Amino acid sequence: PLVLGIESSCDETGVGVVSGTRLLANAVSSSMDEHVRFGGVIPEIASRAHLDAMLPTLRAALDTAGVGLADVDAIAVTSGPGLSGALMVGVSAAKALALATGKPLYAVNHLVAHVGVGLLDGETSDSAAGSENENPLPENLGALLVSGGHTEILRVRSIASDVELLGATLDDAAGEAYDKVARILGLAYPGGPAIDAAAADGDPRAFAFPRGLTAPKYLGSTEAPGSHRYDFSFSGLKTAVARVVEGFTARGETVPVADVAASFQEAVADVITRKAVLACREHGITSLLLGGGVAANSRLRALTAQRCAEAGIELTVPPLRLCTDNGAMVAALGAQLVAAGVAPSGTGFGADSSQPVSEISLA
Ligand code: ATP
Ligand code: MG
Ligand code: FE
Repeated sequence: PLVLGIESSCDETGVGVVSGTRLLANAVSSSMDEHVRFGGVIPEIASRAHLDAMLPTLRAALDTAGVGLADVDAIAVTSGPGLSGALMVGVSAAKALALATGKPLYAVNHLVAHVGVGLLDGETSDSAAGSENENPLPENLGALLVSGGHTEILRVRSIASDVELLGATLDDAAGEAYDKVARILGLAYPGGPAIDAAAADGDPRAFAFPRGLTAPKYLGSTEAPGSHRYDFSFSGLKTAVARVVEGFTARGETVPVADVAASFQEAVADVITRKAVLACREHGITSLLLGGGVAANSRLRALTAQRCAEAGIELTVPPLRLCTDNGAMVAALGAQLVAAGVAPSGTGFGADSSQPVSEISLA
């Protein structure tokens, strides 16, 4: 099916077009430049930017794909999770298009869409770590989604009907931790690329920063109350970094930015990859997809590849432009829902800022 996908859950306005598993267009406009001076995404600014960018981005995607709205078989839109006001812009645009054209509309889950993008032909890897694969979404797939708003491990038995959350962050997302630590170190926002660059000249063993939720008491069986076997916590790590930096400053010494950045980055990559591989091993998962903006991190990519190889897990890393938020992933998931015969969502739904992964599309 030919499907149009619309994404507006955070700071990217994205419109994508796919034909089945073939990518035809992926137009993205980001408001990140407008958030830089605030050191974080400001929801009100993001919503206004979506309003300005939505129609030009839609036009760009249709032009690139060489199709008109009349050619489309279905429309898919991110209904959640994400920023309410931001989501609302995409949802309203998608409803208007569906009403005007009479096309079926699917309100899809943003996190599941990050996984769905792995289904697109020839778009399954751009790293030595990944592998080309005839059927990129096997029966029992794991997904490690790491971004500014999310740090989650998912188990995907069927992309259209069975997605389960195995673990998530209890406080900051990994990307958020990067952004906060960058600020502590006086590096630019967004902090991920800045820390990644600074860490290149640092010693990852210079400081032994905490690995959140890896003490034995947190690693009990997943059913045990209080157990956080596959969950993450990065706020203690952020505090530990702040203490170390404060110590150097109080002593009038220069902060060893490269060593702190490398040691912080190592702590994040270590705990994320350890838990992802553990979750895969314990659920018979032999194929893992890495997605989200933090998939750009050099150490996370390298350590995920290394530990997956050691554990016999096949790793897929989509190209970065498809790891960050975009409309193609929404279209890709929409096409899967159409192909699986899932009923469309109608136009009565609203944005759900905390839509759970089990709700792949809204009824
Ligand atoms: P969402 O969480 O809804 O998917 P987002 O806009 O918060 O959306 P992305 O756009 O996917 O997230 O990713 C942005 C995040 O990725 C930022 O927090 C940024 O610091 C981080 N990031 C980008 N490049 C790197 C890198 N090389 N290393 C570490 N983090 C990075
Ligand atoms: Mg973003
Ligand atoms: Fe996202």
